[in-house]
Amino acid sequence: MKTVYLPVVALVLMNSPAVAADNLEPVRYAIALHGGAGSDWLKLDTNEQADVKDSLRQAITLGKTILADGGTSLDAVEQVIRHLENDPIFNAGKGAVFNSAGGHELDASIMDGRDRACGAVAGVKTVKNPISLARLVMQETRHVLLSGDGADQFAKEQGVDLVDQQYFWTQRRYDAWQRVKQQQADDHKGTVGCVALDTHGNLAAGTSTGGLTNKLYGRIGDSPIVGAGTFADNKTCAVSCTGVGENFIRNAIAYDVSARMAYKQQPVEEAVREILTQTLDPSKNGQGGIIVVTHDGKITMQFNTGAMARASADSAGRLEVAMGE
Ligand code: ASP
Repeated sequence: MKTVYLPVVALVLMNSPAVAADNLEPVRYAIALHGGAGSDWLKLDTNEQADVKDSLRQAITLGKTILADGGTSLDAVEQVIRHLENDPIFNAGKGAVFNSAGGHELDASIMDGRDRACGAVAGVKTVKNPISLARLVMQETRHVLLSGDGADQFAKEQGVDLVDQQYFWTQRRYDAWQRVKQQQADDHKGTVGCVALDTHGNLAAGTSTGGLTNKLYGRIGDSPIVGAGTFADNKTCAVSCTGVGENFIRNAIAYDVSARMAYKQQPVEEAVREILTQTLDPSKNGQGGIIVVTHDGKITMQFNTGAMARASADSAGRLEVAMGE
């Protein structure tokens, strides 16, 4: 597949203080989500952009409510991602991109910051909500990653919602597949992810995607690879990534954010900025975005692509939804 590189727009940072401004109390809970990085978000017309923002707002409100009610970060991450998987605008669940064989193969992972428990599925074809299957792999098996037919079989045994391939079909993704096959612009934006800190002090992270448009049949990206697309450890942070997955795998990007905090005591916003400008070279297919919530409730959402659908909220009253810079 030939990828057309987009011009790199200035790296965008969105950070928040981890202390409520009015009372200087520590943040009790915090949550951030992304709906994929890519400047194509800005090519949507005004109504479409408003719809995307509505969906992001609903998703972050859902997650915030779970956390405000004392729910767990794992529940918040799973429910937020299910919401985004069910919205056809995003490249996860319904609306997943087409692979080179004209089908849909979905990847997802989830991680619990308490003990680094994690679960993932790759290349599933019949699962409506891959993030929930990833959680079942974490909780119901001794394994971390199930793939292909075995993962679909596991889904059947667990009684999760199954769908046929037609369910994932959308005109938008079909048209994008035709364009990519003709070696025009790559349009895979829309991977989704969520990171959260709950009132019990526990972090969780999750990511879900249909992958890259026209990816080779059987290709697995970073989203189901713990340490590449997803990572969480209560000692440091929870991370979810989006972008051209091969580079996130090569550089263990999600783990790198945590490692920089742990071993170098690097501030999170600086760690993510260096990764997006130095480790990942946007001019060499290193385009992407990273969202992080730290153990003390700091949120950073950065990208080197001109846009990233995103939202965040915390107990200090933060509530924001954005796509561009
Ligand atoms: N990281 C995903 C993958 O490579 C795609 C994306 O985030 O846009 O499968």
